[in-house]
Amino acid sequence: MIEAKNKLGIVFFPAFDWAITPSHPEREERLLYTMDQIREEGIFDIKGIKTYNPELATEKDIQRVHFCYPDVKSVVPQPHLISAGGAITAAKCVMENQTDKSFAIVRPPGHHAHRVVYGDRGFCIINIEAVMVENIRQHYGNKKIAIVDTDCHHGDGTQDIYWNDDQTLFISFHQDGRTLFPGTGFVEEFGGPGAIGYNINIPLPPGTGEQGFLYVLDNLVLPILEEYKPDLTINSAGQDNHYTDPITNMNFTAQGYAKLNDKLDPDIAVLEGGYSIEGALPYINLGIMLAMAGVDYSGIKEPDYHPDKIKQAPEITEYIKRVCEQIYVAWKNKDQISQKALKGRQWVTRQRQIYYDTDGIMEHQTENIKVCKKCPGLIIIKSNASRGGKDSIFAISIPRNACNQCIDEGYRKYKKQSTIRYNKVFLQDKVNDLFKAK
Ligand SMILES: [Zn+2]
Ligand SMILES: [Zn+2]
Ligand SMILES: [Zn+2]
Repeated sequence: MIEAKNKLGIVFFPAFDWAITPSHPEREERLLYTMDQIREEGIFDIKGIKTYNPELATEKDIQRVHFCYPDVKSVVPQPHLISAGGAITAAKCVMENQTDKSFAIVRPPGHHAHRVVYGDRGFCIINIEAVMVENIRQHYGNKKIAIVDTDCHHGDGTQDIYWNDDQTLFISFHQDGRTLFPGTGFVEEFGGPGAIGYNINIPLPPGTGEQGFLYVLDNLVLPILEEYKPDLTINSAGQDNHYTDPITNMNFTAQGYAKLNDKLDPDIAVLEGGYSIEGALPYINLGIMLAMAGVDYSGIKEPDYHPDKIKQAPEITEYIKRVCEQIYVAWKNKDQISQKALKGRQWVTRQRQIYYDTDGIMEHQTENIKVCKKCPGLIIIKSNASRGGKDSIFAISIPRNACNQCIDEGYRKYKKQSTIRYNKVFLQDKVNDLFKAK
């Protein structure tokens, strides 16, 4: 009998009864082929690999992260609560030492869900990693956490939620936003005033292969993680960089994903995208499981794998080297960059338009972050969305480690804000784990 070097927990939830449409690429078969494959390969005969049933994320879990309009009940369908709950279960296994590592193979995904939620974007409604991370902090103390997003799409929702939080280092590598949804994730997006340098994007050209991904990991991601020293590392494990994925243009392999996971050595992996449901997902998910369990994965290979067909062009190799150097220099100089950017400023404002492609909603948002010397700063969001009628919200988020002044200012602003100008006024107090709405 093979024995796992690391005890591994698997949470599996295919959401049988939920899909955007029956033939949509994000459907239950994404996980069913994986299940068949891992059963066939005898994964559950390996000593030390165990399955766990997902729990249900609660309304409170969601409110720690999101402002759902008009409320959680109306916008979050139950499969999403189970998917986020699956991630929470995976985290519990690790936090309570039942397992060394865990992998939540769940759907629907979550990394395109921003702080404000009017509906579905990029097949995501709530951010399952963020819901998990805030649940961990609430139950096991304020951990320093790194989230490494290896999905082919920019993890724009996770970026938005942790934009101003230096206790959460967010690193995303993805296909360049000029060539793929959601069109963001550039090197210049480097974090809010309280966390400049703690949001790292590595845009990669279409056609990037194994060589490029592993170069980024070895020469940029691992050195940064070594300096940051997180208490926990989480992998947003999107499998859509595969050369057979129908909605992206990358050339990564199952073997490459297993190596990447092995080197990154995450405590928890949470499945995100991946739409080549027969040709890629079963092999990648199996490779990641073996890598996490510390079992030999060198035999993992897709039946149609031909290394010559997916070889990375030399120009791409050169380009990636330059991008990595540029980002590493910025990381090293983040304190100077921050001082220069914030000099003499009291508030930092961002105006954004966020398109909910799945639901056809356009949101206009103004985000104001207070520049505070004692804490990461209060966040004030004014937003409206058009879908027939007009919906508008005013939302205040008090950060987890806010100073007393910022807490008081948050409550004052909530009290003062009238409900005539806005359909909903929200207050998210992360210090006291409270949520208010009027
Ligand atoms: Zn990504
Ligand atoms: Zn994706
Ligand atoms: Zn403050």
